Amino acid sequence: MTSERMHTQALVIGSGLAGCAAALAMAEKGLAVTLLTSGEELIGGNSPLAQGGIIYTGPGDSPQLLEKDILACGAGHNYLKAVRFIAQNGPKDVRELLIEKAGVPFDTAPGGDFHLTKEGGHSVSRIVHAADQTGAAIMNAMAGLVRANPNITVLTRRTAVDLLTSHHQAKLLEFKYQLANQCAGAYVFNEHARAVETILADFTVLATGGVGQIFLHTTNSRPSIGSALAMAYRAGVKSLNEEFIQFHPTALFHRAERRFLISEAMRGEGGRLVNSRGEAFMARYDPRRDLAPRDIVARAILEEMLQTGEDSVYLDATGVPNVRERFPAIAAKCLEIGVDIGVKPIPVVPAAHYFCGGVLVDERGRTTLERLYAVGECSCTGLHGANRMASTSLLECLVWGQSAGEDIARCVSGGRAAHSRKLKDSIPDWVAPGFDNNEDQALIAQDWATIKNTMWNYVGIHRTGSRLKRAFEDLRDQNRHLHDFYRETPLSKPIVDLFHGCQAAYLITLAAMRNKQSIGCHYRIN
Ligand SMILES: Cc1cc2nc3c(=O)[nH]c(=O)nc-3n(C[C@H](O)[C@H](O)[C@H](O)COP(=O)(O)OP(=O)(O)OC[C@H]3O[C@@H](n4cnc5c(N)ncnc54)[C@H](O)[C@@H]3O)c2cc1C
Repeated sequence: MTSERMHTQALVIGSGLAGCAAALAMAEKGLAVTLLTSGEELIGGNSPLAQGGIIYTGPGDSPQLLEKDILACGAGHNYLKAVRFIAQNGPKDVRELLIEKAGVPFDTAPGGDFHLTKEGGHSVSRIVHAADQTGAAIMNAMAGLVRANPNITVLTRRTAVDLLTSHHQAKLLEFKYQLANQCAGAYVFNEHARAVETILADFTVLATGGVGQIFLHTTNSRPSIGSALAMAYRAGVKSLNEEFIQFHPTALFHRAERRFLISEAMRGEGGRLVNSRGEAFMARYDPRRDLAPRDIVARAILEEMLQTGEDSVYLDATGVPNVRERFPAIAAKCLEIGVDIGVKPIPVVPAAHYFCGGVLVDERGRTTLERLYAVGECSCTGLHGANRMASTSLLECLVWGQSAGEDIARCVSGGRAAHSRKLKDSIPDWVAPGFDNNEDQALIAQDWATIKNTMWNYVGIHRTGSRLKRAFEDLRDQNRHLHDFYRETPLSKPIVDLFHGCQAAYLITLAAMRNKQSIGCHYRIN
């Protein structure tokens, strides 16, 4: 294994919407930015999968109304300052960044205005979308801006392994004696070279997305394994609200590694949930029926499945006007399993979907570690509280990505010094722990199966004290075991991912076990 050492002003780990927004905000102010992704290409992660849309504004809407809706969904567990920040800045950022600068082709209505849709929790229609492929449309436009910006260097197939900090890695004692710990970049596994690179950075931004892939059933992309949570934990950075995992009620019931999402917008436009007997059941669970918050709908679906003994319920969208044209990607996917959505109800089940918690940040995206920022799904701004309102997450990526990028640019232009040469020189390159590659794919697959099943069965939609205790003990042991393995085995991407995923699962379980109260999407039956 050879290793490379490089320096950049700003290192962004993750190239979803949040990472791209942060990178662009800095690059446009003249900073040299290195943007990493573990994926094969710049576009990856959960962002291009987003279907329903992004909050903008609509008739009868106001920041106060948006604020009220977000707070209602978050079960009052939200941080009011963060909610107010997005309600004030969100629609402006969508207009300036996505519509005017990036030129995202959002759908328009016959009069030429944007076509607005509504999802669960929203009291007015205020969501703009590009058919049912909003994330892909946004990411194509943002990736175009990133690629065209000469200040951004994009590195693909790079998996961040660990954060570099002055307390942990610097060899000179004087850095260990300083009270303030500082982030100085990351060790990064380069899959092309099969080597760990030392990327030294004056500022580092975590933007690694969600955690869905640590659960057996999920709508999330492959890299969504909670890397930021694990790396932040090891660097002593504070995280919050890790127990709040949102399960999407309607994922397509089919055989696949990732469950395909059936957008909530379909229910917003008239689709109805029915059980195997054809009964529309949501009125029995909540007066808001099919547009009740996601946790309520997910639990109602599980209950119906239990009562009917069936493997799924159904989403009947046959009454939605022009349903095949309005939801072309969903129509095509369902057709693959023989369901014509204009004629037949779609079989659906709940799946892990969104991480409401994460690395604690303020409105500028700053974490509790100096020079470290976090943006997007891996962060906890307090916006979502105990549950997320639909279509707020892309907006959070945009607003916080922009805000963090601007804050870093302000620090640099305000004279905040780059890291000293002494600190940089004092951080050693990664030392490979051995030369025998004893990585065993069967062991890795088994470890992942254990993590995913434990999280789904014991830390899932319904949680109990005894299930959580069992999960905690199992994951703690697995975590210890992996830690030893990690220290003895040369790195590879599967090993880094497994280690990150297991640690994220452990932290989520620990938080769920500690929170005895049922609130939002953390639902305890004892
Ligand atoms: C199916 C689906 C539909 C959705 N629909 C909507 C919607 O309609 N509206 C809405 O607002 N939200 C929606 N969401 C949620 C929203 O898409 C995500 O919350 C958001 O895109 C997250 O963006 P992000 O930039 O934080 O992370 P991501 O877009 O997931 O990007 C994460 C990036 O980090 C990289 N990465 C991960 N780990 C590492 C590592 N260790 N080292 C280097 N790189 C790493 C990944 O490769 C990727 O580039 C949906 C989510 C899903 C899954």
